[in-house]
Amino acid sequence: MGKRKLLGSLLVLLLVSSQAMAQKIVIAHRGASGYLPEHTLEAKAMAYAMGADYIEQDVVMTSDDHLIVLHDITLDRTTDVDEQFPARAREDGRYYAIDFTLEEIRQLNVSEGYEIENGKKVQSYANRFPLGSSVFRIPTFREEIEFIQGLNKSTGNDIGIYPEIKQPEFHREEGKDISTAVVNLLKDYGYTSKQDKVFLQTFSFEELEIIKQQILPAAGIEVNLIQLIGGPGSYPWMFAEDGMDKLAFFADGIGPEKGLVVARTSTPGDLEITSLVQRAHAAGMQVHPYTYRLDPGQVPRYAASFEELLEQHYFQADVDGLFTDFPDKAVQFLRTRN
Ligand code: CA
Repeated sequence: MGKRKLLGSLLVLLLVSSQAMAQKIVIAHRGASGYLPEHTLEAKAMAYAMGADYIEQDVVMTSDDHLIVLHDITLDRTTDVDEQFPARAREDGRYYAIDFTLEEIRQLNVSEGYEIENGKKVQSYANRFPLGSSVFRIPTFREEIEFIQGLNKSTGNDIGIYPEIKQPEFHREEGKDISTAVVNLLKDYGYTSKQDKVFLQTFSFEELEIIKQQILPAAGIEVNLIQLIGGPGSYPWMFAEDGMDKLAFFADGIGPEKGLVVARTSTPGDLEITSLVQRAHAAGMQVHPYTYRLDPGQVPRYAASFEELLEQHYFQADVDGLFTDFPDKAVQFLRTRN
């Protein structure tokens, strides 16, 4: 190959890869959870049909070592466990998924998330799917992977999964290595390289290190890893000048709370975009903040509408993707914007 030709192919490669970088994505946060109870297969089917690029799973473990898709390590907020198994709460009054077998968990009815107010169950987002209506179940992680891969086959699409390992330290204290179980299941279902459509996320940097340095090599696979960041308090070193460079040794991207990307103190005329996205990009990492909701009171005051919020974060702050409970809105927004 001549030098000129080589240079030409390199240029094409560069263009293609920069375009791939520019392809912004929509991550369905707990499924289309703005419309159907979170982490039910129904909510995942809706997110899939709405055109989300990735669908999120939060993963916790049962007493008999099954991986289930559930946001909390407890069953209280989204099921009727208190009615079906009233004697099974721990001393703190909570019902832990890890104290129940899969067979027991399969009996629970899933509903919209709720809080107790004056002894009554009140759903957390009043405009969402009515509390206690219809019938929903907690799926296993395996069932959900098969569900999404099944839809990929029947539709010809290639939608990704975005599992989060929930509270790995808690699981270790309970004698369970949840990360190894998750990684082995990913391997069983063909997610084995960074080209495969999976991002594996966790808030625990200590666990991310273990996954990167021990669990993935032991399984003989690689997957894209995302460090979730709740606030500057959790790992102050990540916010230092070289923090993103240090993190990039372990992670392929970050999932920050959206206030870390555009400061909450921003006003309509004065958007305070932090240096986080820029620093992450300079370190070669992607940025997927959370969570974008259009329920009353959930759009920050600096944005006049949900669409403006998306414009500010996707294009002014230049994030690569974002987690939203309303994937249809973000998909529509990106279509009109491109
Ligand atoms: Ca999550």
